[in-house]
Amino acid sequence: MSKDKKKVRVEMRKNRTKPPRENDLTRDYQADATSTDDSKASERVRAKGDLSRYRTVTQDDANTGTGQLTGDAAEGIRGRVIRVHGLASVVEADDGRIFRCAIRRLLKTMATDERSVVTTGDVVWFRPVVTGVGSQESVEESEPERQARDKPEPRLALGLGLPTPEGMIERVEPRHGVLTRASRRREQVLVANVDQVAIVISLVQPTLKPHLIDRYLAAAEKGGLSPVLLLNKIDLADAAQLQPLIGSYAQLGIPVLLTSARTGVGIERLREQLRGRSTVFSGQSGVGKSSLLNAVQPGLALSVKTVSEVNNKGRHTTTYAQLLKLETGGWVVDTPGVRQLQLWDVRAEEVEGYFRDFRPFVALCEFPDCTHTHESGCAVKTAVTRSQISSRRYHSYLGMFHGTATE
Ligand code: GDP
Ligand code: ZN
Repeated sequence: MSKDKKKVRVEMRKNRTKPPRENDLTRDYQADATSTDDSKASERVRAKGDLSRYRTVTQDDANTGTGQLTGDAAEGIRGRVIRVHGLASVVEADDGRIFRCAIRRLLKTMATDERSVVTTGDVVWFRPVVTGVGSQESVEESEPERQARDKPEPRLALGLGLPTPEGMIERVEPRHGVLTRASRRREQVLVANVDQVAIVISLVQPTLKPHLIDRYLAAAEKGGLSPVLLLNKIDLADAAQLQPLIGSYAQLGIPVLLTSARTGVGIERLREQLRGRSTVFSGQSGVGKSSLLNAVQPGLALSVKTVSEVNNKGRHTTTYAQLLKLETGGWVVDTPGVRQLQLWDVRAEEVEGYFRDFRPFVALCEFPDCTHTHESGCAVKTAVTRSQISSRRYHSYLGMFHGTATE
């Protein structure tokens, strides 16, 4: 330990929480960090469950914070939650280290729905935590302790079978592109910070169902995710015949990739499309999602499967999502529920909003509450007769509006 540092024993504040504020977690955290003035100290929590009332704080007397760990503790380490396991979050730091993190109580207190305080995909700031090695009374730091502090000793993370250092999540960055699911009457965030959804469609076996594409696209619109269409098994289909279909989606500004996991056609373009982004793969069973993942990166689908199987033994089976890292940069988001896309409950009157090609016409309908089904003076229907909206898309709309466009 350097000379300008000393260790002090401080009483654990029992009530560090403040009345919850409605919206801004970040501001609350920062306010709290300032008021408790421990942001400059590297903290070693010796807690053994709730029994410990003391914690050891390694203080930097000069408050200059030059040490590496002090730096970590002052600013925290930034990382991405790659999966959530009960109360623990597995976080990958920006430098690639994996931590098993708990969530600071303050964050939990402020959340209205505990399950979504921290979720897969979240960008979080956390402090490394090293559980005590010596006795509670020891003030001098032993050499093994110091080493453990500088480089956290791998510990067996409960339930995960992973040797993982630990951390405490202090802050969650604002989310974008969330995948949610209605869980009872609450909305549960399954994955945060998803950039795009790769909609995998099989051209044959199972056969292409265009209305299903539209359903997936609507779901993507609703989730605020950019869709990418992967028309797979092109080796079994006639690309020329697909041109009208491809054209109609390209017209909507949706990237369409023709792929074959079998021959490798389109895989390089797919890798490019995934690079640096977080992508959810969705699509019916048998369309080739696993095969495409493996074509992009050998073994990728296997890790999807392994974790799904592990989760299937747990209590919260299908709610777990995880991020899988791509060697080329970026993440694939594996969410068992999203694959079948049964996540979004779309109300009939919402549906028009998820058909981006309808937008220019909706405002021109005679009745402001036009449902574009039976009404006179419907600009959408007129657009269909003039081929400004494809009749296929319109029929998909009708199916979704009447709630009949299911798989
Ligand atoms: P998933 O259920 O969406 O993950 O689909 P799989 O990846 O398990 O693939 C289902 C079946 O389709 C398997 O028998 C694959 O070998 C086959 N398959 C996947 N992609 C292709 C492809 O591009 N061309 C052909 N001919 N078969 C494919
Ligand atoms: Zn209308």
